[in-house]
Amino acid sequence: MADKKPLLEIRNFSVKIDNNEIIKNLNFSVNAGEIHAIMGPNGSGKSTLCYALTGHPEYEITGGEVTYDGKNLLEMEVDERAKAGLFLAFQYPVEVPGVTLQNFLRTAYNARHGNNGDGQSSKVNVLKFWGYLKEKLKMLDIPETFANRYLNEGFSGGEKKRAEILQMAVLEPKVALLDETDSGLDIDALKAVADGVNKLMNENMAVVMITHYQRLLNYIKPHFVHIMSNGNIIKTGGPELALELEEKGYGWITGDKVEAEA
Ligand code: ADP
Ligand code: MG
Repeated sequence: MADKKPLLEIRNFSVKIDNNEIIKNLNFSVNAGEIHAIMGPNGSGKSTLCYALTGHPEYEITGGEVTYDGKNLLEMEVDERAKAGLFLAFQYPVEVPGVTLQNFLRTAYNARHGNNGDGQSSKVNVLKFWGYLKEKLKMLDIPETFANRYLNEGFSGGEKKRAEILQMAVLEPKVALLDETDSGLDIDALKAVADGVNKLMNENMAVVMITHYQRLLNYIKPHFVHIMSNGNIIKTGGPELALELEEKGYGWITGDKVEAEA
């Protein structure tokens, strides 16, 4: 595939929070059809990278350029980024009592897809959306009753992560950033989440999986593995790099005494 479409091009990207420079001169590019894994010890800046890209106001961009699907991402508002198909599955999804998952997803769907660009609204009503959502639920093997629960309220860790994947299915992002979507999951929940991502992945989009652990990569096969340490990507390789990490921990690359946790 010679002419892969670049979706995300990050050049010399630097990010500050509370006056600390967390991301330093980071370079990272993703093409359509690719799955990337970013691995690294806790505190290496993985979540900071995600938040900065999605436009979280607490994160100050102090340098660099980011091109998203041909546009200058850093000039786009937070909601414009989301509408343009940049998606972040949170490491710690928030609970929103009183708002059903179904209502939340419909609102998000209409925000993302409800304007077809020529000024005509193509927002969907409750009934039409339910038809769409039912297909997604079926594809992801999630019971229909799940959609009527309040967003993340009382959800187990696995259910929260599945709700994030359902959101990804509904929004059909171009670039999906999955921040530790595997953390805290038992093996069945992990498989369910991985299975969902595999079903959703296609040649027009890209997935960036951020993870501390290698085990998710047993179920979602990345094309590239990047190691992040101290605010930068210090090594890039293929899937074998993740196996090497599993075996040796992070210390051999980062120079720190950080061991991979079991
Ligand atoms: P990771 O996701 O790789 O574990 P983070 O991006 O969460 O790492 O954190 C990177 C560094 O930024 C850490 O040293 C952390 O303490 C610091 N940091 C993250 N969020 C904040 C914040 N809101 N205020 C101050 N420092 C922060
Ligand atoms: Mg994190």
